[in-house]
Amino acid sequence: MNPNILQTPIDYLKGVGPGRAGLLRKELGIHTYQDLLNFFPNRYLDKTRFYKINELQRTSAEVQIVGKITHIKTVEQKRGKRLVADFVDDTGKMELVWFRGHKWIRENLKLNTPYVIFGKTNWFNGMFSMPHPEMEPVEEYKKQLRTAMQPVYPSTELLAKKGVSNRVVNKIMQQLFLETKGRFYDTLTEEIREKLKLIPKAEALFNVHFPKSQELLAKAQFRLKFEELFYIQLQLLIKNMLQKKRIKGYVFDQIGENFGRFYKDHLPFELTNAQKRVIKEIRSDLGSGAQMNRLLQGDVGSGKTIVALMSMFIALDNGFQACLMAPTEILAIQHYNGLVEFCQNLGTSIYLLTGSSKTSERREIHEKLENGEIDILIGTHALLEDKVQFKNLGLAIIDEQHRFGVAQRAKLWKKNHMPPHILVMTATPIPRTLAMSLYGDLDISVIDELPPGRKPIKTVHRYDSNRLKVFRFIKEEIEKGRQVYIVYPLIQESEKMDYKDLMDGYESIAREFPITQISIVHGQMKPADKDYEMDRFVRAETQIMVATTVIEVGVNVPNASVMVIESAERFGLSQLHQLRGRVGRGAEQSFCILMTGHKLSNDSKTRLQTMVQTNDGFEIAEVDLKLRGPGDLMGTQQSGVLNLKIADIVKDNEILKAARYHAMQVLKEDPDLALEKNKVLKYTYSQVIKHKNIWNYIS
Ligand code: ADP
Ligand code: MG
Repeated sequence: MNPNILQTPIDYLKGVGPGRAGLLRKELGIHTYQDLLNFFPNRYLDKTRFYKINELQRTSAEVQIVGKITHIKTVEQKRGKRLVADFVDDTGKMELVWFRGHKWIRENLKLNTPYVIFGKTNWFNGMFSMPHPEMEPVEEYKKQLRTAMQPVYPSTELLAKKGVSNRVVNKIMQQLFLETKGRFYDTLTEEIREKLKLIPKAEALFNVHFPKSQELLAKAQFRLKFEELFYIQLQLLIKNMLQKKRIKGYVFDQIGENFGRFYKDHLPFELTNAQKRVIKEIRSDLGSGAQMNRLLQGDVGSGKTIVALMSMFIALDNGFQACLMAPTEILAIQHYNGLVEFCQNLGTSIYLLTGSSKTSERREIHEKLENGEIDILIGTHALLEDKVQFKNLGLAIIDEQHRFGVAQRAKLWKKNHMPPHILVMTATPIPRTLAMSLYGDLDISVIDELPPGRKPIKTVHRYDSNRLKVFRFIKEEIEKGRQVYIVYPLIQESEKMDYKDLMDGYESIAREFPITQISIVHGQMKPADKDYEMDRFVRAETQIMVATTVIEVGVNVPNASVMVIESAERFGLSQLHQLRGRVGRGAEQSFCILMTGHKLSNDSKTRLQTMVQTNDGFEIAEVDLKLRGPGDLMGTQQSGVLNLKIADIVKDNEILKAARYHAMQVLKEDPDLALEKNKVLKYTYSQVIKHKNIWNYIS
């Protein structure tokens, strides 16, 4: 088939016409035959046959099954009850679930009587379940002529109103297959198809629109999901390769004085294996001649700072300057103090520049920076100002990257004739595969090991009614010399209410702990007051810190051993994890106490349970991802970050991994896709990037 036929405007398809074409364009973004072909059903109705429970596939199809209910029970939930029935046939067991209409169901459904059930199945906890099935006793079930599995396409209100029903879309689709004879050339190599046992493209397209069976539908969906993710990964990897070739970087091939002496004589502890590995990765980047663009992920407390410092030493050893940029002033100061301490006996010249640096200091810093008297500059966004000019910036490190955008990274580049190496550090544990698809332009290093001797933080969930017990526990800890955080939620829309909660809380704590010194920090305070209060806590002049989430990022008080989170159900998982990371930084046993009321949603319960069960940031991120989807995880409103047609980045994580792996294999052998056998990849790739640059996927 001439592939160009797929670029035909949709108006030309028989049965479409200008009116419908306009609607398809506007409502569904379907402009060409190709767009229509790639417009996939989001569910299927299958009344073609009966399924056995052990034949069920994890597709979104709706199926009918014959079996009997053996048992019905009510499961109590915070948000009402759930009715759950065991449903069996001669091959296995599944569950039927109802959230409403319990009385009717209990009174009318007969146990141990054959029924035909129809509906969508979910796979959960190793078992299929069907919520709110359509049910009919077998004897009443009239056998009708049921011809085929029926695809259900996404629609809009306007389409429905204008009569472009599912049936119409179905017909148009049939017409498309008729006109093109359904002969679509394959877009993956035979090699890949064989390795993954993928069905041919034409067969996949046919079966996703007109599935002949569940098995074929599953195969069709797998094939198309794989392909979609494969080409995204191919794009990211090629982009990354090109960038490496194109963007030259300073070559840091000397490991000298600073790095060597620090490593030999001043390292205050043995590096963890993960730290050593990551430093090696960074060293190899810095020596490669290409600009480094690396994301360093490591859970809170995993020791990213020392890695940053040693990387900066490499820059210094090669005659360059380095800078470290933090998202807040408090963090910048903490980094500064920490690094100055590490460098005490080394004579490294380290300066701090923030929004509140005085004019005279600024002037001095600007000058010393330009004549090379400053080795390392630490600061906030202030580093990005035009006046800040380095003599020769070789390495820029950005802490807590989600607060800085790509544009800001680029701004740092402009400070030189050649871009400095960039290391971005984040404690947000983005699952690796997701990170790879979102930050394809960054290489990723992970510190997946905590320094030795840390006692895992003990996390418990307590109800408000147990508050007195919690207070008693806090008192004991303070008597042992420890410090305590008590954190209140802060949500923009109800800032006033949150503020009131915080102040009420503060008063009751002050009453409960009359002889204890208490700091309070919240968003409505002046920065100077905030810093003052923080500082008192850091210096252990106060024992309790009552705060909103402003303390979330980076604050380091090793003597603090208790983190109490009020209204914990109102926090997201990653935020809870970040907050918990404020404790457990010293040698003492630390505790995290999640306070909530009795009314909790299922999601809240899952979040709290996850926190109680694990300290592993990546595990938590995986749960978070499942609960919220990837958009939210990034802490911004980019839901639907990846605008995918058929794959689901959360559910199809395994396919994503496979796609990435195979894309890498291909490029390893044939980086330019020049081999004869990869011709089809090269062609498809060129089509894909012509029509869909990766930046269209990532909004
Ligand atoms: P984060 O990754 O959260 O920035 P930090 O770099 O602040 O973590 O390190 C947390 C604490 O652990 C610091 O007090 C640091 O000095 C200490 N630390 C880092 N690496 C090690 C190590 N290998 N052995 C012992 N302590 C370490
Ligand atoms: Mg840190």
